[in-house]
Amino acid sequence: MNPDMILLRFGEFTVKGRNRDRFEKRVWEQVRRALADFPRAGIQKAFGRLYVALNGEPYEEMAVRLRDVFGIVSFSPVRKTPNDLEAIRSAAIDVMRGLPRQPETFKVSVRRVDKSFPHDSQEMNHLVGGHVLRELPGLKVNVREPEVELKVEIQPEGTYVFSRVEQAAGGFPYGTNGKALLLLSGGIDSPVAGYLAMRQGLELEAVHFHSYPYTSEQATEKVISLVRKLSHYTGAPIKLHLVSFTDIQTAIAQGGHDSLIITLMRRAMLRIADRLAEGREALGVVTGDSLGQVASQTLSSMNVIGRATELPLLRPLVTMDKNEIIRIARNIDTYDTSILPYEDCCTLFVPKNPSTNPNLGVVEKAEAGLADLDGLIGRAVASVETLSITPEFRSAAQSAGVDDWF
Ligand code: ATP
Ligand code: MG
Repeated sequence: MNPDMILLRFGEFTVKGRNRDRFEKRVWEQVRRALADFPRAGIQKAFGRLYVALNGEPYEEMAVRLRDVFGIVSFSPVRKTPNDLEAIRSAAIDVMRGLPRQPETFKVSVRRVDKSFPHDSQEMNHLVGGHVLRELPGLKVNVREPEVELKVEIQPEGTYVFSRVEQAAGGFPYGTNGKALLLLSGGIDSPVAGYLAMRQGLELEAVHFHSYPYTSEQATEKVISLVRKLSHYTGAPIKLHLVSFTDIQTAIAQGGHDSLIITLMRRAMLRIADRLAEGREALGVVTGDSLGQVASQTLSSMNVIGRATELPLLRPLVTMDKNEIIRIARNIDTYDTSILPYEDCCTLFVPKNPSTNPNLGVVEKAEAGLADLDGLIGRAVASVETLSITPEFRSAAQSAGVDDWF
C-alpha cells in the first residue's frame, strides 16, 4: 500500500487532564523536529491524536525517526478516504494488496466514531469484509486469530484504513515532567538510566566527575560521546557539567578509611550535585545504581550514600537485571562507547574490601576527620566546566580526529 498519512498515538499522558494541552504541544514540536528532513510532510492535530500527511515523503524512513520520539506509543501508516462506503472499500483493497506478504486469514474491525455515518460498525464489518473476500479470492475470515487485522476508523473528518501498528518509544514528551541532574560516569549503566529518565519526560543536565590528570582526557571524551548519543532523543542541547574531583578524591584516599573510600566519594558527589541542582531548578538526581551490582549498591550502601542529599534519588535501573540493561544500552547505541577501556575516577583507588554495609555514624565521623571537606566541595563546584551538547557536537580533540573511536 502507499500510505498517504501516518496516525500517531499518544501515551498515558492523554489521561492527565490539565497538562494535556502542554503535553500535546510538546509532542507536536518533537514530531516536527524528528521529521525536519522531510519538508513536505504536514503535521495535523485532530481529537487527541496527531496525523502526518506524507505528501510524497517516504514512509519507511520517517518511521525510523518517529520510533524514537518520547510520548508516542505507536503509529500506523494509513489510507485516508472520505466517509463513503465505496471509497472505504477500495482503500481496504489497497491496504490488503499492499501487505508485504499475502495472508491466508484476516478480519475487519470497524470503529464508527462519526455516528452520522449511515452503517454501524457491525454492518460495516460485513460490508467491507465481504468486499475484500470477493476481490481477493483464497482469503478467509478468522475472527479469533487473524493473521491480519484490517482496521477502519470512521472519524468526522474522514476514514482511516490501516493494518500495521508499529511500536514507538512511549513515555512522556521530553521535559514535560520536570528537570533532574544525571550523574553520568563512562560506564554502561548511567547512560541507560539517563535514557529511561528522559523517556519518562524528565529534562536532564549531566554531571561527570573526572580526576584529571589521573583519569585520561579520553575518559572525558567518552562521556561527551555518550551525551551526544543521548541528545539524539531530546531535540535540544544537553548540558554536561565536568567537575574536577581530583582533590576530593586524593583527600579521601589519604583519609585512612580504606573500606569506606567509595562510600565517601559517592557522598561527596551527591553533595556537589546538590549544589549544582540549586539555581538550575533541578529537583532530583538520576543515577545508574542497580541493586546489589557492586558494594556501593547494596541497600545498606544506598541508604548511607543517599543521606548525603535531600534531593530525591531516582534510580531507573534499581531492579533491573544486567542483561536487560545491556540490551537497552545496545538499542540506544551507547554500549560500544561505554565499554571503551578508559579509567573512571572511581576505579582509580578501588579498595580491596569496599564496605557493603557501612555505618552512617562511622561515615559521618570519617567525613568530619577530613580536612576542609566543605572547602574542597565548594572549590569543585566553582571549577565546573559546562558544555552544551547536541548530536553534532565535536570536542576540539574529536574534530581534530585525535581518536576515531568516538
Ligand atoms: P555505571 O555503569 O553507570 O558506571 P556502575 O555499575 O559502574 O555504573 P558505579 O561505577 O559504582 O556503578 O557508579 C554508580 C553510579 O554513580 C553511576 O551509575 C553514576 O550514576 C554515578 N557515578 C559513578 N561514577 C561517576 C562519575 N565519575 N561521574 C558521575 N557519576 C558517576
Ligand atoms: Mg561505573
